[in-house]
Amino acid sequence: MQKTIERIAGDSDGTAYEFPVFRFDGTDKAAPSAYLQAALHAGELPGVVAIDALMPMLAKAEAEKRIRGAITIVPWANPIGRSQYHFGEHQGRFHLGTRVNFNRGFPLLAAPDARLLPDTSLGGADQRLKTRLVQLSLGRDIVLDLHCDDEGLPYLYIHTSLWPHMADCAAAMGIDAVVLWSEDTDGTFEGASIMPYQNVPASVARFERRAVTTVEYRGMLDVNGAYAASDAAGLYRLLVTRGVVQDSSIPKFEKFAGPVVPLENIDMMPSPKAGAILYDVKPGDRVAKGDRLATIVHAPGEAGGRTEVFAPQSGFILTRRSRRIIRAGEDLLKLAGDKRSGDARSGTLED
Ligand SMILES: [Zn+2]
Repeated sequence: MQKTIERIAGDSDGTAYEFPVFRFDGTDKAAPSAYLQAALHAGELPGVVAIDALMPMLAKAEAEKRIRGAITIVPWANPIGRSQYHFGEHQGRFHLGTRVNFNRGFPLLAAPDARLLPDTSLGGADQRLKTRLVQLSLGRDIVLDLHCDDEGLPYLYIHTSLWPHMADCAAAMGIDAVVLWSEDTDGTFEGASIMPYQNVPASVARFERRAVTTVEYRGMLDVNGAYAASDAAGLYRLLVTRGVVQDSSIPKFEKFAGPVVPLENIDMMPSPKAGAILYDVKPGDRVAKGDRLATIVHAPGEAGGRTEVFAPQSGFILTRRSRRIIRAGEDLLKLAGDKRSGDARSGTLED
């Protein structure tokens, strides 16, 4: 394993950002290659600690010459977001200088060709970081972007072109649900990793061996040793299942038994009022149409000071907010519905 340091110059003299990159060489040039990154939204740490638990497993595989495909690992993908504190609170989702989400504005290339990328010396620091991350990952057969939600089940976003090819990955990782999406108008990292393959010959696209996903490892507070170990084991099983790492002790995964939900079935449930949320449901709960999901206490102690929110359709709760204060119009939760949502959103679900 080699460790190198990437350096992104800041937007003013005297400032620079650095992050480490780990690379394992594969023994077989024809084997699938992999790229893993965590904490693009810099405060989302379940993937960071999962990588920490995965590294000794890969080091052992390397020592035993069982790493077939090249692996690149970026455990802290966003040193800019990592450094952002605003009045003592960490702000890792949006770049404070531009208000742009760190997982939007990635270049969506027409083909998987690094020569089409913008010059890495152009743009602000956050844009240059994004270009560099695509440069590091482009062309890898497996690209995993490790995030987490507010509070939620472990689930994957997967582009429709990769389903059901990636059912083995979902099964190997042991996640609870898959959300399928089809269009990216905002330039997510996942979009930048899969959209370049949509209009190229099948011999280049090779969807049957490609795996690209945004991994949502539960919630922001689900950072602990037990989850880190089980998530690392899931990542390792994926790498073995796809032939990047050799390990005969790992069984072959094929079928995913969990729910697979099209993005347009997700009800985000904008809050009708600003106030304090009293949730009736938590991630994993099954709900029927008309079940109460939450009560918003907007005028405490007053007649009519509570507003109830009901399920518009049956389904299960995928995520909910971690904070209990809400403004009118902000989303209360993700209800993965059995049918298309009346409030179906295209592109990304959130800002
Ligand atoms: Zn995220």
